Amino acid sequence: MRQIEVKTIIQAVKEASIATNYEADADLVAAFAQGEVEEESPAGREIFRQLLENAQIASQEHIPLCQDCGLAVIFAEVGQDVHFVGGDFEAALQEGVRQGYDEGYLRKSLCHPFTRKNTGDNTPAVIHTEIVPGDRLKLWVVAKGGGSENGSRLFMLKPAEGLPGIKDKVLLTVAEAGPNVCPPMIVGVGLGGNFERSALLAKKALLRDLGDSHPDPEVAALERELLTAVNDLGIGPGGLGGRVTALGVKVLIQPCHIASLPVAVNIQCHSSRHKEVDL
Ligand code: SF4
Repeated sequence: MRQIEVKTIIQAVKEASIATNYEADADLVAAFAQGEVEEESPAGREIFRQLLENAQIASQEHIPLCQDCGLAVIFAEVGQDVHFVGGDFEAALQEGVRQGYDEGYLRKSLCHPFTRKNTGDNTPAVIHTEIVPGDRLKLWVVAKGGGSENGSRLFMLKPAEGLPGIKDKVLLTVAEAGPNVCPPMIVGVGLGGNFERSALLAKKALLRDLGDSHPDPEVAALERELLTAVNDLGIGPGGLGGRVTALGVKVLIQPCHIASLPVAVNIQCHSSRHKEVDL
């Protein structure tokens, strides 16, 4: 049994919360550069130029990539041979977020759902924990912007609606989201499972590298087809019109009930922020 001190977790989550808000990932920066080349509209090319400049300034001056520093979402894969010592695991994750948002001068964006009173420290983070074989702890610390989350949708289709129904709902979601989700966007799609699992798959899909493709050739083909169709909508960077509406469409699937066809679409804005921690 491997022991991990919770104070190590607090420190790691704090650092990841700050880093993900200051440092754009290499795959995202590469996608911006590619977008600047591929985009046909002058206004769209200018948006990509500004996104590249923004990423550079944030990294150099240690300031957030966006004023919306996001709701913290943490995916945790806990090895079944790990024993946490010195405190409570989930409390440590929350403390790491609290310290990161405080010390990094990151905007605190969480509030009571109807009084709208701010919680003051950007907690509680949303935590998804999975027990896996081994003695490692892997964390993905995500800062998820509110604007793009608002454009996300979940549909419980009839099985007979099939693949055409899936494509239709993805495109409908992107079309309705339009400029409100700060494009160029990344579209996470969760297919199957049940109501809540499809939403989780859609969010997890957003953790994938922008340059990868799904190992299942049929799913990979669906991703390519959806990306082309999304870009054909013409929403463009910043919603100003253009070819590059999305930097990627990422799909995760799992079997579902014979009576169901859950389809979740989680939209990610251009400020895609997540850092991986391996302890
Ligand atoms: S949706 Fe994304 S880019 Fe737009 S304000 Fe929120 S975090 Fe920033």
